[in-house]
Amino acid sequence: MNFKEYIRVVENFPEQGIRFKDISTLLKEGTVYKAAIDSLAEACKGKQVDIVVGPEARGFVVGAPLAYTLGCGFVPVRKPGKLPAATIQASYTLEYGKDALEIHEDAIQPGQKVVIADDLLATGGTISTTIQLIEKLGGQVVGVLFMIELSYLNGREKLANYDVHSLIQY
Ligand code: AMP
Repeated sequence: MNFKEYIRVVENFPEQGIRFKDISTLLKEGTVYKAAIDSLAEACKGKQVDIVVGPEARGFVVGAPLAYTLGCGFVPVRKPGKLPAATIQASYTLEYGKDALEIHEDAIQPGQKVVIADDLLATGGTISTTIQLIEKLGGQVVGVLFMIELSYLNGREKLANYDVHSLIQY
């Protein structure tokens, strides 16, 4: 299936010069959404995944159905202050300023095999931070999956030590 034709590219959103890749036009087509998740599940074959981790918020839309399909657990990674129980935190630098992500400290057991799922790989900042959180808890990142990869931003270089897979490339 040609997934790319279901992505809507919105010019100058959320700011001038950004070409926003909108996955909502893919998600609303049931058969295409299912085929995309099934294709990501296919990429997990032979990995014996215990947990899928998805970063807020579009990582939930990709990660949760992937976990359901694989029959494994789902763990959310969220912006600070959103998770109710004890968390650990990692921060990262943005174009302007800093941001941070959190995970529940009991969400992953040492040695568990983890796949990360998100909508889009841009600079790789979000996913590198997510990897830090998982590895701090002793999880083993066995794959990183995206619907979309912006190859020209070289996010893959930041993830050179990991098995990265994407369905659509720009
Ligand atoms: P990054 O940490 O730079 O890899 O990007 C993190 C998140 O920003 C991605 O998971 C997307 O949700 C969002 N993002 C960045 N660039 C775009 C874009 N051009 N279109 C849509 N979403 C984007």
